[in-house]
Amino acid sequence: MLTIGVDVGGTSVRASVVDPHGEILETRRVPTPKSGPELNAAIAATVRALSDRYPVAGVGLAVAGFVSEDRRVVRFAPHLAWRQVAVADELAEQLGLPVVLEHDANAAAIAEQRFGAATGARVAALVAIGTGIGAALVIDGQVFRGAHGVAPELGHLRVVPGGRQCSCGKRGCLERYCSGTALAATAGEMLRDSSEPSALRELAELTGVDVARAAEAGDPLARRAVDDLACWLGEGLALVADVYDPEVVVISGGVSSSAHLYLDAAREHYAATMTGAGHRPLAEVVVAHHGDPAAMIGAATLAREHALATPKAPSGG
Ligand SMILES: [Zn+2]
Repeated sequence: MLTIGVDVGGTSVRASVVDPHGEILETRRVPTPKSGPELNAAIAATVRALSDRYPVAGVGLAVAGFVSEDRRVVRFAPHLAWRQVAVADELAEQLGLPVVLEHDANAAAIAEQRFGAATGARVAALVAIGTGIGAALVIDGQVFRGAHGVAPELGHLRVVPGGRQCSCGKRGCLERYCSGTALAATAGEMLRDSSEPSALRELAELTGVDVARAAEAGDPLARRAVDDLACWLGEGLALVADVYDPEVVVISGGVSSSAHLYLDAAREHYAATMTGAGHRPLAEVVVAHHGDPAAMIGAATLAREHALATPKAPSGG
């Protein structure tokens, strides 16, 4: 059975035909339109371009935003036009195919738990480190969403009372210390607070990628900024372990491409920080297998599992 997974991102809509082994057969991409109706139309057109050529049984959408508990409605997506829109039902009607909706981090976690770095794990967590932190939890093969569909918001756990301002309205959230944005902020503070020479002083505007590159090249200040991120990641992993006790934590997102710079230090800090350190098994901490297409693969997998679990409706209606 083939299904289509769609990653609805702030800059582009990507759709892939995915087989039961999580392999992508073909991908289409279009820029993300600004208005809600245009967005629905763009998704429908992209899906049709694929479903005209492959026999597909359903569609899964991965969305960076709040999805309702029944996964039919997008409540709020900061980078998309949808506000309280019944996206799954609207698209199902337009396409004549079953449509399921999932938060993008949850979809990525499903891809990793079914066919990736956490294959077969009973309790698996995904920590996506990019501009901020996205997180997901899979328990007994199912995504854990909490009572209202918003868990787990790992990135917004406050780790520094009165700390750096976060876009969520709070201060001191974990993602202000452990993300690409945080890496640039930490290095920026280090540059301001010292006169230590660093290649980063040449740059007018600092990004996380700049800091990672400089660290890779051996710049001592950049290295310390990366070590700081490693420490905060270890702190975050210890929080995850204390609340959920996972077998495996998968690190994904843009910053995971530099994982070789910080993962060992993060593991060490995690092992030393967790409650009962030294007296309980540690979760394996691994880098994601699927990278960028993970959300599409996971969404397509959820669509397939949904299609298999749902009795076939009479066609033509
Ligand atoms: Zn926050």
